[in-house]
Amino acid sequence: MALLTLNSIQTFYGNIQALRDISLTVEEGEIVTLIGANGAGKTTTLMSICGITPVRSGTIVLDGKDITRMAPNKIVELGIAQVPEGRRIFPQLTVTENLDMGAFLRSDKEGIRRDLEEVFELFPRLAERRHQQGGTLSGGEQQMLAISRALMMRPKILLLDEPSLGLAPIFVQHIFEIIGKINRERKTTVFLVEQNAYMALKIAHKGYVLQNGAIKLADTAENLLANEEVRKAYLGV
Ligand code: ATP
Repeated sequence: MALLTLNSIQTFYGNIQALRDISLTVEEGEIVTLIGANGAGKTTTLMSICGITPVRSGTIVLDGKDITRMAPNKIVELGIAQVPEGRRIFPQLTVTENLDMGAFLRSDKEGIRRDLEEVFELFPRLAERRHQQGGTLSGGEQQMLAISRALMMRPKILLLDEPSLGLAPIFVQHIFEIIGKINRERKTTVFLVEQNAYMALKIAHKGYVLQNGAIKLADTAENLLANEEVRKAYLGV
């Protein structure tokens, strides 16, 4: 079943068109990745979905509901959690307090407690540092915290904006493994925006290639990994 659908989205910054006729579908249970170079419009796509950058035309449908012109907070309530680029955690709050913030919309105390334990199982390093201030964590750990905080919302879909950006190679590998695990074990649907096309396609089911604000290619991740054009332009082979 289609969980998230974008139908012919057009988004502008003033007179500059950033997105041209973007259509894509994320099925429930999938990892779908949107790859593309710097400035292709990946972040704008996420901001459009979240209602932060309003679309000029087209529709965005979540779980059968038209969310195109809804306020961002309403969209969050409906089950879209975004982990923005640059992992904006609360540096003064402890790891546990940061995670509690992720659950602010929920009132099921027992469920929150269980999810906290689950997140700590997923990220043992966060469990070890649960009383430490977020700002004292390494870049990779802060990315883990940002993802975990979004998971505490129990979202229908998790949107990730370049989770590997600025991380040491060893953490990059780890973060992608964890995203795969979240999808498999927690059954969380993931929409992943990445410049690291190889790693993203490795864990995704399906991919879209964005170029100059338009979808250039859409295929299974496997086919995109084998695609000559993609290999030359995005995989450096
Ligand atoms: P990056 O990897 O750098 O995040 P991206 O693929 O996410 O790139 P966007 O940030 O979505 O690309 O930018 C798409 C286009 O829109 C770019 O040409 C960019 O310069 C332009 N753009 C982005 N934000 C704004 C803004 N606030 N005002 C004007 N133009 C913008």
